[in-house]
Amino acid sequence: MTQMTYANENLNAVQEQMAKAAKLAQRTVDDVRLIAISKTRSADDIRPLLDTGHRLFGENRVQEAAAKWPGLRDEYDNVELHLVGQLQSNKAEDAVALFDAIHSLDRPSLIKALAKAMDKLDRRIPCFIQVNIGEESQKGGCAIADVASLLESARAAGIDVAGLMCVPPSAVNPAPYFALLAKLAKDNGLENLSMGMSGDFESAIKLGATHIRVGTALFGARD
Ligand SMILES: *Cc1c(COP(=O)(O)O)cnc(C)c1O
Repeated sequence: MTQMTYANENLNAVQEQMAKAAKLAQRTVDDVRLIAISKTRSADDIRPLLDTGHRLFGENRVQEAAAKWPGLRDEYDNVELHLVGQLQSNKAEDAVALFDAIHSLDRPSLIKALAKAMDKLDRRIPCFIQVNIGEESQKGGCAIADVASLLESARAAGIDVAGLMCVPPSAVNPAPYFALLAKLAKDNGLENLSMGMSGDFESAIKLGATHIRVGTALFGARD
């Protein structure tokens, strides 16, 4: 099988699962965006998916993305790149320059750094507030109780908050966490939900995901 066939088959399979999940939830699948998570993959691994026409990708590290994507953007038009990993404040400017959306806004110091970077570069990109939905000490994201105040601070700083993002605890049923994130978004008047990965995106779609972040199901297992 060629690399492009492999990419095409995986993409078709994921899109079919997305359509089924959306249908069960009586949603239209066009309301769910598939972010192909290309962390750890080389440009050669990513090109076959770009060759299928897919254009929305996500990375979890600024430096890794900076090494791969400017070159790929020279080769392919209309690439949209989202940052889905933790962001250090000192990399805020690089992130605003490189990415089209940030899914990991989770603290006041980062709001400040991102607002400053956006002002300096005169470039506004939408952000998702990441919520530590399982209240796990090792995970990024703000406390559930802090969502409203972070939202207010981000808006006061001129940041466009698109919605909420979460990575639920592993090895347990994620559905209650997805439902909780959906409720938090609704309570705060936010439209978009970045939730669901290779193992659980169907559940996330049923519970309202507008952005799913899928790596393994598209590219195969990571090393
Ligand atoms: C790696 C990663 C994903 C994709 O995970 P898969 O299980 O490979 O689909 C999604 N979201 C975040 C934040 C990630 O770091």
